[in-house]
Amino acid sequence: MFRTLLIANRGEIAVRIIRTACSMGLKTVAVYSDADRDAYHVAAADEAWHIGGAPAGESYLRGDAIIDVAGRAGADAIHPGYGFLSENAAFAEACEKAGLVFIGPPADAIRAMGLKDAAKVLMEKAGVPVVPGYHGENQDMVFLAEAAAKIGYPVLIKAVAGGGGKGMRKVEAAADFAGALAAAQREATAAFGDGRVLIEKYVSSPRHVEIQVFADGQGHAVALHERDCSLQRRHQKVIEEAPAPGMPPEMRRAMGEAAIAAAKAVGYRGAGTVEFIADSSDGLRRDAFWFMEMNTRLQVEHPVTEAITGIDLVEWQLRVAAGEPLPLTQEQICLDGHAVEVRLYAEDPQNNFLPSTGRLLRLRAPDHMLDVRMDMGVREGDKVSMFYDPMIGKVIAHAPMREQAIGRLRNFLSSMEIAGPKTNLAFLAQVMSHEAFIAGEIDTDFIERHMDALVPPAEPGSGVLKLAAEVYRTLRGDKLQAVQAATAEPDSPWSANDGWTLGGARTEIAKFSCDGEALSLELAPESGDICEIGEDGEVRAVIAGCSLHAACVPRDRGFILVHGGIAREFVPVDPLDVDVAGDVGEGALKAPMPGKVIQVLAQAGAQVARGAPLIVMEAMKMEQTLLAAADAVIDSVTVVEGEQVGAGQALVLFEVP
Ligand code: ADP
Repeated sequence: MFRTLLIANRGEIAVRIIRTACSMGLKTVAVYSDADRDAYHVAAADEAWHIGGAPAGESYLRGDAIIDVAGRAGADAIHPGYGFLSENAAFAEACEKAGLVFIGPPADAIRAMGLKDAAKVLMEKAGVPVVPGYHGENQDMVFLAEAAAKIGYPVLIKAVAGGGGKGMRKVEAAADFAGALAAAQREATAAFGDGRVLIEKYVSSPRHVEIQVFADGQGHAVALHERDCSLQRRHQKVIEEAPAPGMPPEMRRAMGEAAIAAAKAVGYRGAGTVEFIADSSDGLRRDAFWFMEMNTRLQVEHPVTEAITGIDLVEWQLRVAAGEPLPLTQEQICLDGHAVEVRLYAEDPQNNFLPSTGRLLRLRAPDHMLDVRMDMGVREGDKVSMFYDPMIGKVIAHAPMREQAIGRLRNFLSSMEIAGPKTNLAFLAQVMSHEAFIAGEIDTDFIERHMDALVPPAEPGSGVLKLAAEVYRTLRGDKLQAVQAATAEPDSPWSANDGWTLGGARTEIAKFSCDGEALSLELAPESGDICEIGEDGEVRAVIAGCSLHAACVPRDRGFILVHGGIAREFVPVDPLDVDVAGDVGEGALKAPMPGKVIQVLAQAGAQVARGAPLIVMEAMKMEQTLLAAADAVIDSVTVVEGEQVGAGQALVLFEVP
């Protein structure tokens, strides 16, 4: 076995790999960029080396710098994780050349599966069913249009070098083909520097079902069952589960055999995933699945397979790379219960899932639930930076039955508390509560089809408003008591600062802005409601007889209330305060509401003090000056005078300290 492992990655996958390597007794070496000096993976490893600037191109994609560090740190192997250099054949070769073991398949296998068209030709030869379509050399528009007509609409245009759903277009009818082809080619050229495409039959009621395979490079390979990754948004996986709901055992066997044939056809070694598309219009059927592509690395969703098989896939990767045989035979691989994983993202479901950045002011999870695993990439207090994938982490629940795993995950998500960047936490909890999902009625259009029911309403409900009013009163009451205690005669009624009025109590209306919307909270006297705020921000409240659990994070002005998976910032509106400090997230000044930029005061490179005016906006027929929320150095201004901007759009970027 290796002695020292370098992890050429960041975030949750780096932390996850370090966990296994550490428990296997290996020394772990992390690498990090300028933006990641204080990152979780840096703290988790035995040692960490700086490799370059914040953009991935200057750090995590720099194979030369990483191999250099591996030499200096005395590493004997490199684990690339997923993304970055994980499917870079040249990097795999460079590792071997430098005398380092690349934890992944041979470079030739990466190359063979790297282009979708060549891979499909190879798979056809190996007897693996592939999606009917055209995957040849000819890229002539007229020829491709004819091919599409022959295949029969709807068809899917895919970039040969594709990944992450880029360069992909569904075409419903011949009239739309030329436009869609041009768009796909443009996108593919921009993203991969390769505009070539292939045409596939668009499978109806498509389910994404993939097989985890493992090969030892000596002719042995096993299939570790399937994962269903049908819950996607824009062809990107959001929720994954294992096994696939409604999977007939004979189909599982057939898919496993096809995946093993695929792996063997390219001389595979290590962990790989063979992705299939299945037509589920008649339920899953053994003769209705086709090869899409093979991912020659560990996948984001590997934990659901670990949950149902009890296997540590990273441990297997290290063992196989060290030359050991596969630890289990096909017959010894079990399938125990059901596991569901959700990808927790810093993004705003209310705002078309726009990535959200900033410091995680709160990140707590319930600690009383069994069989829930969290693979986190950040800790409370860490930053989600704009430079990388905005994934906060993954949560995986395992239970004997599917419905139980879903319920467990829903309960867990609803009890999580995250404040800082916007997240999809409440959205994920909504999916776990959706009847059609629970019934297993899923395909790749599920999220799009049920979007309205899945995106939580923007406006806080009356329950949340009542809770916010109580929290506000409690926070303010604490302050008032402190003021009172500091006066000369704390017990004198004349020192009381509680708004007591002659002639009985009256309801006070407090005005707030919440996510750019104006709202008022009614502070009714003697409501009988109870609210206590613990030292660590835990809120225990009884509102109208119902006991609620929430959290609050006091801010400069106002507070953030975290309840039911959603964090909302309540900022009291001071009637004398004409200028509005915009929603200044860490790292960027964002537009608090849609409007027009009328003056840009910020200048790139300038050092500004807290409260300095940066942008003047016109919104809702009113001019607003957006101020710096803290001392900062301006990195760049992303808007010009006269520009129309959306709510939450970043207007000024600050340098990452
Ligand atoms: P990428 O490499 O860009 O992720 P894939 O080939 O893996 O692209 O496909 C991504 C997703 O697109 C699949 O998970 C599936 O939802 C959808 N998809 C791909 N091929 C088809 C097809 N022939 N019919 C219907 N949907 C498809």
